[in-house]
Amino acid sequence: MTCSRPPGRAAMNLAWPLAQTARRFPQRAGLIWRETVLSWHEIDSKVSALAAALSALGLGPGERLMIHSPNCPEMVLTMFACFRLGAVWVPTNFRCAPDEIGHVVATSGARVLVCHSDFPAHAAAARAALPEGAPVLSIGEAGFADTTVQAAIAAHDGIAVGHAPVTPDDPAWFFFTSGTTGKPKGAVLTCGTLAFNITAQLADMMPGLDETHASLVVAPLSHGAGAHLLPQVARGAVSVLMPDARFDAAEAIRLIEAHRITNLFTVPTIVKMLVEHPALARHDHSSLRHLVYAGAPMYQVDQQRAHERLGEVLVQYYGLAEATGTVTVLTPRQHRLVMADANKAGTCGVARSGTCVSLRGRDGSEVPVGEVGEVCVAGPAVFAGYHGDAAASAEALRDGWLLTGDLGRFDAEGFLYLTGRVSEMYISGGSNIYPREIEEKLLEHPGIVEIAVLGVPDPDWGEVGAAFYVCRPDAQTDPETLASYAATRLARYKLPRHWTPVEELPKSAYGKVLKRVLKQQFLTG
Ligand code: AMP
Repeated sequence: MTCSRPPGRAAMNLAWPLAQTARRFPQRAGLIWRETVLSWHEIDSKVSALAAALSALGLGPGERLMIHSPNCPEMVLTMFACFRLGAVWVPTNFRCAPDEIGHVVATSGARVLVCHSDFPAHAAAARAALPEGAPVLSIGEAGFADTTVQAAIAAHDGIAVGHAPVTPDDPAWFFFTSGTTGKPKGAVLTCGTLAFNITAQLADMMPGLDETHASLVVAPLSHGAGAHLLPQVARGAVSVLMPDARFDAAEAIRLIEAHRITNLFTVPTIVKMLVEHPALARHDHSSLRHLVYAGAPMYQVDQQRAHERLGEVLVQYYGLAEATGTVTVLTPRQHRLVMADANKAGTCGVARSGTCVSLRGRDGSEVPVGEVGEVCVAGPAVFAGYHGDAAASAEALRDGWLLTGDLGRFDAEGFLYLTGRVSEMYISGGSNIYPREIEEKLLEHPGIVEIAVLGVPDPDWGEVGAAFYVCRPDAQTDPETLASYAATRLARYKLPRHWTPVEELPKSAYGKVLKRVLKQQFLTG
């Protein structure tokens, strides 16, 4: 394949580390799923064959391929085939609804669709938004597709495809946000941000990662787990995919022993499920070195329990799609230090390598240490804007800095403590209220499992707090009990005025609480 060099500085094609790993460790396993074991050589040649097939279907540099599928080897092959062609990988969350798919196709301008055979309704919704005659491939046989990914690979077996020349600014992945504040937006991750992310993850989160290591993939590859896969590929560490989309803690623990897993990436809820599962005591998990978690805070008691049962393996990071995933990191050793210091409870760590984090007030100036400001980020991982949304991009990027929409404070040593989202802060009687602080205090009540606090209009105070909470199945905590519990732990002006027990909280496909839905429920009564 010949490609002319685009203008600008040449960057590493993100499929190049795969080719290098395949050269160094051709026969070592690179990907394991159920009974399927693919060596690095097999992965690399399948990626080339798929790239040849997609190129024949018209997918060129800069063009978008959308994929809707739970984790499976074809997800990984499609990702690298797009990278190799200089095309853009646009994965959706397989849990989202068909009409959300139409939105992603339209926003991303996808011109090829890959959809798992289990999702015909999603394929139909996507096809309706695709350009006329756009090719549709399925993973597994499906009536809705023109061909399968597997058949496309077989038909182009043995064809070697070179790496398309790319610049650091070329888009490689549209990372769709959770959509907690509106419709999901496509954050543009480039060849430059993703290449930097590989380096920084190796430096900060998984130092020493090499071909003798193994990673267990428990989270969707369409999100953070996809970014976590890239350093594994660059270093030749095998990735083991969970056999089914539904998380099964006992199976994960069994796989940790069976494959001598050294790292995995997940969210705090799953860490807690693993740590508290009885199977943990029956299996050898001594291979684990880096249990990486992100996406939400983890309570100090849970960190301590994880530390006691698993050893010094916890790595926390805080980040968001717009920073290619990561802003701050808390290493295993730092976990030990902060767990011994009550003043450091709730920290999400210090700025990651090569990244500058600054907290800004409303006027844009840096706030003094200890005061709350918006987390702003500069560095090579900051995204290139939202595809096709100049207004949202201009709001998120000011003078090249990313305004995260998260609020936090630094301590004297530079550890960051998040206090909530700018959009969630409300003002009651002239005082700023940060819901996360209230939620964290109330979660200490033994009778509740989940809570969301938000500001709602009030004729006297401007705004007051409304709390929606989920009780533990065996404990029906009434609003009065919870309100008096809160009164002993929070300043009067922070106390929510409305308390509503609910069966469950509305969540996005990635499990984030949708406060705008709760607000709507409250307002419509
Ligand atoms: P997303 O871009 O969908 O991954 O969501 C990112 C948001 O999750 C951030 O803006 C934070 O509000 C929240 N978040 C991520 N990591 C953490 C963490 N370690 N602690 C607390 N909140 C977090």
